[in-house]
Amino acid sequence: MKENKNKIITICYLVLMVVTIVMFNSSGDKSETSHGKAAHGDDPTAYKEAVEPDAQTAKLAYLNQVLETIASTDNRPKAKSDGEEGENPFAGKISPDVAIAKLQQGNIRFAKGESTHPNLDAERRLLAATESQANHAFATVLACSDSRVPVEAIFDAGVMDIFTVRVAGNVCDVDEIGSIEYGLAHVLTPVVVLLGHTQCGAVTAVCQAVQGHGHKLETNIPKLIDNIEPAVKKAMEINPDVKGDDIIPAAIEENVWTAMEELFMKSPTTREFVSKGYAMVVGAVYDIGTGNVTWLSEDKTFEILTKVEASKDKVVIEADSAKEESEPAKATEEKAQEEEETEEQEAPQTEEPKVDKA
Ligand SMILES: [Zn+2]
Repeated sequence: MKENKNKIITICYLVLMVVTIVMFNSSGDKSETSHGKAAHGDDPTAYKEAVEPDAQTAKLAYLNQVLETIASTDNRPKAKSDGEEGENPFAGKISPDVAIAKLQQGNIRFAKGESTHPNLDAERRLLAATESQANHAFATVLACSDSRVPVEAIFDAGVMDIFTVRVAGNVCDVDEIGSIEYGLAHVLTPVVVLLGHTQCGAVTAVCQAVQGHGHKLETNIPKLIDNIEPAVKKAMEINPDVKGDDIIPAAIEENVWTAMEELFMKSPTTREFVSKGYAMVVGAVYDIGTGNVTWLSEDKTFEILTKVEASKDKVVIEADSAKEESEPAKATEEKAQEEEETEEQEAPQTEEPKVDKA
């Protein structure tokens, strides 16, 4: 009898142990599964943030705060009464600082793989068809034609957001400057971004040509890239010890500054808008590998503007001619003015671009 009792106790004890072990293992599995889910589960963002804490998340939050602060303290000159001279045409738009912050936010979203693809729906297209783009677009961007630099995508922007000028090597010659002036004076974008990019083929070609490794170029390319040559030479002058392709990154940045100087030299409107604080011109370089835009010093924009303002060779509008216009610029402007007046008399009804009749 006692023997049986002991047997029963032993069996109960064994059963209890087995149950305990099974329960323990099962709970162990469960915790591992739930841990695994947290680290590698369905949500890629959670995974990304768990394994690689991202400084850009903090930067984006900071930018949101900056944007709100700037918007609430916007102290740009306001529009004066109707038709009064000196009225700020940008008074109804966001300030240059807010526009830059919006571009920065969009780029961070893009680089993090968190683009929201705004303003691309049917509602926005309807708005585009019925309203002036001047009421909406907030940036003019001069960028390279390179397929690796899709402007709206890298700033996570949509329809009626960005007035885009694209040309190989993001050079700033007459047509590009005219387009930028349109973006400023007619689309009323409070910011102009001159955007270079890493591994730019045009800048690379000029760097190699200047160092004696040039290739034969097609008929019209030399005239396109002649704007880049001074930038490459300046980069080499500033960095005398840097040789070969190592000069390319410096040349890419210098090409942005050269474009800015050209823009200020040839566009009195751009100089006026920046001087009055209506608009801002800013340089930037896009990294085609990481997706990040590096924003160049805004102080340098004003350094270049000051240098150009002191130059006798800058193009000026007629109102300034008495004080500081150089003779060649004045002669060119007068000739253009005469031609324009003749054209107006001949064809007062048309606003079409002039076409050479020959
Ligand atoms: Zn390029």
